[in-house]
Amino acid sequence: MQQDGLWQAVLGEVELSVSKGSYLTWFKNTELLHNDHNLTIIGVQNVFIQQQLQKKFNNLIATILTKKGFPSRRIEYQIITSTTQRMIYDEPVFIEKQEETKNEPQHTTKNGFSHSYRQGLNEKYTLDNFVVGAGNELAFAACQSIAANPGSKYNPLFIYGGVGIGKTHLIQAVGNALKNQNSEINILYISTEQFVQEFVESLRSRKTADFASYYRSADVLIVDDIQFIAGKEKIQEEFFHTFNALHQANKQIIISSDKPPKDIPTLEERLRSRFTWGMSIDMQTPDFETRCAIIKTKSLAHNVELSPDIIEFLSNNIPTNIRELEGALNQLLAFCEMRAIEPSLGVATSLLGSSKSRPKHLSAHQVVDRVSKYYQVPVDDMLGPKRDKDIVVARQSAMYLLRSELHLSFPKISRELKRKDHTTAMHSVNKIEKQLNLDSDLKQSLAAIKERLYA
Ligand code: ADP
Ligand code: MG
Repeated sequence: MQQDGLWQAVLGEVELSVSKGSYLTWFKNTELLHNDHNLTIIGVQNVFIQQQLQKKFNNLIATILTKKGFPSRRIEYQIITSTTQRMIYDEPVFIEKQEETKNEPQHTTKNGFSHSYRQGLNEKYTLDNFVVGAGNELAFAACQSIAANPGSKYNPLFIYGGVGIGKTHLIQAVGNALKNQNSEINILYISTEQFVQEFVESLRSRKTADFASYYRSADVLIVDDIQFIAGKEKIQEEFFHTFNALHQANKQIIISSDKPPKDIPTLEERLRSRFTWGMSIDMQTPDFETRCAIIKTKSLAHNVELSPDIIEFLSNNIPTNIRELEGALNQLLAFCEMRAIEPSLGVATSLLGSSKSRPKHLSAHQVVDRVSKYYQVPVDDMLGPKRDKDIVVARQSAMYLLRSELHLSFPKISRELKRKDHTTAMHSVNKIEKQLNLDSDLKQSLAAIKERLYA
């Protein structure tokens, strides 16, 4: 677990530093095989990834490892054999011919179409280990219903929402649940980037018919991050036909995206309308309590019981991205395990406290001022004792933004707003966070204020 935890923490940071496409293509299935002061060995799936990481990302990886407290003189990238890969098909598939894998059997699918960069379902994502709470309960309920009865009620299911909030987890969990009930079922999970890559490859090798029939043979097709299909006409057309074929045959289609169909630019109208045929769900960032429950669950999975103050600290400090939150937790656990110490608030603060930097050009004063102008509530009222509704909303919004944008501590936020008790800031921030999921006007107001702050 220590290496796993460390590597998850490193990946969490890599993900924030490189494009989503690069992350998925080059880092997604990597593993840490060894780490000490002299040598770090990273397991990769094929020679392309090996070369790319070596050439382009070696420095980044070295820097992050050092930053996490685990520097190493040298980093090597080792190709993992195919037996360690997770496959979702009856027959295994393997990547194109390449030197390092010449001793491995070259597998292809029934129709002879050979897949590259295959990742498939990851069985660590289950419905059971998904923590349900405000923000994700609707998406969860829809997924549960599909797992019980695929192809009937919500077809397609289109789930959209921000980065790192559990979309991939949920849609993979449906695939895993169905596979557990019936191992014969043909479930195809694919990231849109892979879909694109494979399509391009099939054009090059003149195997588009194989490509098409492969995807149309699915009982359940799960396509992750469909927003990457934007602007790619040929692929949109291919996907359109696949969609129709499956939908007509009552096969379940599940799609995720970082935005709703109407906001995906240059998406063909006919695809856009199809995406909304079934059910579209706006998945939200889990609220404070749910985040705490997620941390609790994840730490217990590592056999560690964290005290409430650590859990709340993590949940408060990393409010929007569960992947980052998990990365921070893993970093903390790995750090404590390697040094054989108990996790404490002190360690958590020293490890993570400085990870957020505040934008230099923004001051607390500017934030309060912006909020005051937007809501047309005088700053004096915001800082004063009045409790009229519009004043309270402005005051709490300001506290929320001081937290989310400037990452100020609660005592500091309370002082900025002239509140006596530092818990006032904590309650206000939590309250706004919760309300954001329910109140679209508030959400819009805060987005508008933020836009002006950074304009
Ligand atoms: P997205 O696809 O929305 O970017 P992911 O599904 O990859 O996000 O989630 C990021 C990480 O957070 C994953 O490791 C996932 O297991 C975890 N996660 C997110 N939401 C939950 C949840 N409600 N319960 C348990 N784990 C979660
Ligand atoms: Mg995802």
